[in-house]
Amino acid sequence: MAAPWEDVLRDEAAIREAAAVAVDAALLHGVLMRTEREPNASDVVNYAPFTLLPSAVPSALFEQAYAVQQDFNLLVDAISQNNEFLEHTLASTIKVDDFTAQLFRIHMQVLEEGLAQSVFLGINRSDYMFDCGVDGTPALKQIEINTIAASFGGLTSRTAAVHGQVLKVLGKSKEASRLLPNNPSKGLALGIAKAWELYGSQSAVVMFLVEEVQRNIFDQRCVENELWNRNIRVIRKRFRDVFEKGSLDDAKRLYVDGQEVAVVYYREGYVPKNYDQQNWEARLLLERSRAVKCPDIATQLAGTKKVQQELSRPGTLERLLPGRTEAVARLRATFAGLYSLDMGEEGDKIAATAIADPDRFVLKPQREGGGNNLYGEELRQVLEKIRDSPERTSYILMDKIKPQPAMNYLLRAHTPLQVSECISELGIFGVYVRQGKEMVMNKAAGHLLRTKAIEHADGGVAAGVAVLDTPYLV
Ligand code: ADP
Ligand code: MG
Repeated sequence: MAAPWEDVLRDEAAIREAAAVAVDAALLHGVLMRTEREPNASDVVNYAPFTLLPSAVPSALFEQAYAVQQDFNLLVDAISQNNEFLEHTLASTIKVDDFTAQLFRIHMQVLEEGLAQSVFLGINRSDYMFDCGVDGTPALKQIEINTIAASFGGLTSRTAAVHGQVLKVLGKSKEASRLLPNNPSKGLALGIAKAWELYGSQSAVVMFLVEEVQRNIFDQRCVENELWNRNIRVIRKRFRDVFEKGSLDDAKRLYVDGQEVAVVYYREGYVPKNYDQQNWEARLLLERSRAVKCPDIATQLAGTKKVQQELSRPGTLERLLPGRTEAVARLRATFAGLYSLDMGEEGDKIAATAIADPDRFVLKPQREGGGNNLYGEELRQVLEKIRDSPERTSYILMDKIKPQPAMNYLLRAHTPLQVSECISELGIFGVYVRQGKEMVMNKAAGHLLRTKAIEHADGGVAAGVAVLDTPYLV
């Protein structure tokens, strides 16, 4: 399944020329990020890291990933409405993981008070790798689903143009013409716009809840601009602003700085370091409000690794999606082996297996954002230490997926050009809107391909490990 440019990979002069074109094209097309030194200013910006060449993706697996996205949307939405399932699934986790416990407390508090929100908007990204079986046939295996702050839908809409130009410079115009157009930010904005419309107040705004440090602002601006193009007003606020200037009226309408908020789109709030006491209070205020939260806290919980593991148990999908036999089969086909480390015989057994053969597994805590998982010797050491303690239940175990590497160049500012052995991860964006019990939108909104050198076991683009890529279907 190699891409048809193996021939040029070692042609140093051609690669140098193409890389110079690529970097300028990235800047021209807006594949941009703020710099590490000045993460909150746009005076000096740089290109977001990306591959010199598109990476080969098996077209059957690409289509499979798109075909299962609406099922994943339905599944996440069903979980978010099934408190019994969430409570039961997360019971052991919240005893030992304070972050999940705090999210869960807010979830329960909002339920007890009664939901003021009646329109629901989900934006997620389901990520996959192509697992290479013993016979060499690749299979689509889900890494995880991100139900909060799934990023790079904006910047990735610009990489195909860059890669198209690179291929032309390298004498591959035919291949360039085969790169697929892709614009997730438009799809995400259509979902946000629908939710805004159903909320039903012309003067209300969409609020992007953003981090204190905003290096990836251009990615968000792509979505913002799509909303402005539809005459929907967008404001950007931090938890701190909500704490200081946010309030609810008698009907639990949310006001921030005097403006009524129809939709809260979180690009923040997914890791413990996003929260201090004030930020938790701000989060609670938002969750109690009538505004459409993307995601609401139940949907955020539906995206935890513990829930993912529980979904792989026989019978769970059938219970969550009754009567949807085909959807269940499509979903299950993408699952890798996932294992609970809950206290008891089942957990004891798998812990022992993983300690004996750590390279078969990945040990995952309930964290997002890359760089948190444990592999190999480190996995063995940590698991050995906690194997008899309830602390182990804050993790899950997953079969390690082993894709076939391919050679590529990873272009990163201030970094020498050198060829690397790489593996890729494909993400599909999903968007859905529900009003009361009725699904009014359920779509796949585009894709994201990220590629990293094989020496890094973990980490995304924001974590400085993976880079943006474009799929070349083979
Ligand atoms: P996060 O929420 O931190 O993004 P992920 O589950 O996506 O957590 O894991 C982070 C990265 O670790 C992935 O992007 C992938 O590169 C690697 N990874 C995760 N799970 C596996 C797996 N089962 N096999 C191989 N690599 C994995
Ligand atoms: Mg991930």
